[in-house]
Amino acid sequence: MPAVQTALVIGGGIAGPVAATALAMAGIDAAVYEARPADPASARGIGGSLALEPNGLAALRIIGADDAVRAAAIPITRSVMSIAKKPGREMPTPKGIPPRQLIDRGALHRILRERAERSGVRIRDAKKLIRVDERQDGVTAHFADGTHATADMLIGADGVHSTVRKLIDLDAPGARYLKLLGFEGLADDDPDDPVTAALEPGTMTFAFGRRAYYLYWKRPDGRIGWGANLPSEQYLTLMQARAVAAEDWLHTLRSAYANDIPGARLAAETTGETLQAVGGLHIMPPVPHWHRGRMVLVGDAVHAPSNSTGQGASLAMESAVQLARCLRDLPDVPSAFAAYERLRRPRVEKIAARGARISHAKAPGPIAQRLMAVMVPLMVTTLNIEKTMAAEQSYAIDWNAPALQDAEALA
Ligand SMILES: Cc1cc2nc3c(=O)[nH]c(=O)nc-3n(C[C@H](O)[C@H](O)[C@H](O)COP(=O)(O)OP(=O)(O)OC[C@H]3O[C@@H](n4cnc5c(N)ncnc54)[C@H](O)[C@@H]3O)c2cc1C
Repeated sequence: MPAVQTALVIGGGIAGPVAATALAMAGIDAAVYEARPADPASARGIGGSLALEPNGLAALRIIGADDAVRAAAIPITRSVMSIAKKPGREMPTPKGIPPRQLIDRGALHRILRERAERSGVRIRDAKKLIRVDERQDGVTAHFADGTHATADMLIGADGVHSTVRKLIDLDAPGARYLKLLGFEGLADDDPDDPVTAALEPGTMTFAFGRRAYYLYWKRPDGRIGWGANLPSEQYLTLMQARAVAAEDWLHTLRSAYANDIPGARLAAETTGETLQAVGGLHIMPPVPHWHRGRMVLVGDAVHAPSNSTGQGASLAMESAVQLARCLRDLPDVPSAFAAYERLRRPRVEKIAARGARISHAKAPGPIAQRLMAVMVPLMVTTLNIEKTMAAEQSYAIDWNAPALQDAEALA
């Protein structure tokens, strides 16, 4: 018998629907409450591409969503690191591990929601959590539209600016701004551009430009997708970044990447229609309290590593599945939450620490800029990327094994 019968999941992004599906598989009745309206016009708000690592796919396999994700994604079989105008240097990839998958965020959301609904999960949109009432045996969530819902427990899968995190601990740290603004754009291929014309689909290039970091890849339709991390002291939320005219952003991006190949061309050919601003990029510092009473955190709400790790969404999926497994196998809520934290905290904090080191290199100061050509190859060697990646990416949860045993082994 699971530790609870019913659960409220706050947040219908990535961790929320995965957690709810895994809870349903564990025999727990789950409902997801998402702040965004269902209105398709808001779908653009979650656009952009997302790379899922093999460990994320392994978590999706447990809930039976990996095939659908793979079918909608592009496999990335090769990674190249390039510095300024120098030719790219191929990064070692761990052997025997399947490729990462690049998917449109909107497509991923649709797949995860459909999967959750097929397993009996109810998803309610336009339900922004504002406060909770806690009792010994359950939680009532109150939403901005005046409605409420009650269950045995509540999961905060509400992202990096989590409301639930503050409800668990008023003194919880907030997300830290990385002094980088995120963008994604699209440019046509150009047969006269020696860099992009030679690109193979399935190659992702991580480029340290003169003034800013960016990455690019060839899409199956032949066009070039690219993501920009623009250094900016000024913090902007997603909504604030989108309130700026696309042409103004393009002007800034064209200036930032003016001396980069192929960055200058990508910025020059991206149009206002294909540019997406995502606002400030964040990381979550370690969160002292992952749970309290009958409330617990999952995904970015409790562990958002730098986007340089490529692991944010994959770790969110792993944690969502592990939490459901602990609730299935441990006899009560406190022991289930404690086992969950014990199983997850060391892994996510180790990956976050690796990401923090890379993030420093993405917004270099004037002196570091000149040293980049030396620093980056050195980082590749000293971080022993192949070994680190193999350990990160081969991780898989054994859903059928009892969680109690794993948690005791770590105690
Ligand atoms: C530009 C960018 C690029 C990235 N690229 C990658 C990548 O390539 N690979 C990767 O693995 N990760 C990437 N990440 C990180 C990844 O997006 C996150 O790790 C992932 O989305 C975490 O999932 P989540 O469900 O925990 O949070 P989210 O996806 O943020 O979902 C949280 C949900 O909760 C909802 N919500 C918030 N507050 C409330 C409330 N009060 N009530 C109800 N609902 C609420 C939100 O509307 C949202 O839908 C990137 C992030 C950014 C910003």
